[in-house]
Amino acid sequence: MMFVFFNHKRSHTNRKGVIMPHRRYDKILVINAGSSSLKFMLFDMATEGMLAKGMVERIGTDHANLVYQRAGESKTEQAIAAENHGKALAMACKMLTDPEVGVIKTLKEVKAVGHRIVHGAEFFSEPVLVTEEVKTSIKKCSDLAPLHNPANLDGIVACETVFLHVPNVAVFDTAFHQTMPPHAYMYAIPQQYYDEHRIRKYGFHGTSHKFVAQAAADHLKKPLATLKLITCHMGNGSSIAAINGGKVLDTSMGLTPLPGMIMGTRCGDIDPSIIFFLARKGMSIDEIDTALNKRSGLFGVNGIGSGDMRDTVNAATQGNPAAANAIEMFAHRTALYIGGYYTLLGGADAIVFTGGIGENSAPARKAIISRLEAIGCKLDEKKNEATFGTLANISTKASTTPALVIPTNEELMIVRETFRIVSDSMKK
Ligand code: ADP
Repeated sequence: MMFVFFNHKRSHTNRKGVIMPHRRYDKILVINAGSSSLKFMLFDMATEGMLAKGMVERIGTDHANLVYQRAGESKTEQAIAAENHGKALAMACKMLTDPEVGVIKTLKEVKAVGHRIVHGAEFFSEPVLVTEEVKTSIKKCSDLAPLHNPANLDGIVACETVFLHVPNVAVFDTAFHQTMPPHAYMYAIPQQYYDEHRIRKYGFHGTSHKFVAQAAADHLKKPLATLKLITCHMGNGSSIAAINGGKVLDTSMGLTPLPGMIMGTRCGDIDPSIIFFLARKGMSIDEIDTALNKRSGLFGVNGIGSGDMRDTVNAATQGNPAAANAIEMFAHRTALYIGGYYTLLGGADAIVFTGGIGENSAPARKAIISRLEAIGCKLDEKKNEATFGTLANISTKASTTPALVIPTNEELMIVRETFRIVSDSMKK
């Protein structure tokens, strides 16, 4: 396949005579397509800075709208016609190239597109350049992520239409976890379910776990290949990973993003028999699915009908016992995973907290870290209270296992992966 890629005049030639992409002049677009939405972010490779971002919502309805924001400016919102993802992308591109509010003169400045793809099953352990074969494999994974993968594919097809001859790269949420050994990813259920349906643990948030693991290595000034890390991505969805030398040993999500930690509205680990029990009480499979995915987690137990950690902390502070217990449950489960992973790794060079809660919620971090003294991690209360969305070590100097807060940036990771994959493909 031939791509018109990167600015040849301004690019340089490597020792083999191949024209290399030039970080100084190139722009990469990141696309995250959902079933009725399309999020986009344009990055400048010179600075790895975001130039503009936006989202088309309610695609395929009469009330589609476009939210758009240039870096450092406030959001604008307008009603648009977007009957499909192709139209939505065309509207996004119109904004990006608009003489008044745009950030590029022409779409030719976009030299590659990186796509967030939720499920890559066992097909993908790395990001890949999109080909017809790759699209077929993404489609095959739709069984495992019926809400996400078909929409992710719509985003790819839209880009292929709008950006002719521009390489598309698929970056999978599951890929980073593909290094897990069979004894970590197999469920102890009849082997035939794995053989027939590939039912196993896959794990999610891989792009975020990989980003913060590398950032932790940079902060510790040690190669990632030499480190044992426990990374806790805590947002509306939450997962933990045990990472040994840059390779995932285990992670808390599974076949789907439902198990593991207590989340905003997802239950995390429960006794699977609860499902049979509720079914026998007359609930349908769909009702149980909704209950466990959308009405459980913090939302289910904090007594205030909100899956938000900030609301939960506020309610607890005002004396709501159910909210206080929800935070204790969240911390107890998280500490359980951290302790288990510490044992499996044989120690840890750092425990990393990221995601909306990990980066910003000092009370949630305190509840977790207060349970970690046995593994050499003690909270520095002042540093914890002072840390919101910035990189910091929030454990005491005497801690043998430091606790780091590291802001994640999944879009930037997708940009870096896209650049790497396209550059590598040009060397071949
Ligand atoms: P998503 O998984 O949807 O990307 P986020 O990573 O944005 O979610 O995380 C959302 C969670 O982060 C919510 O529970 C929210 O309460 C929490 N959060 C975000 N900002 C803060 C803050 N400043 N203080 C405390 N919690 C916060």
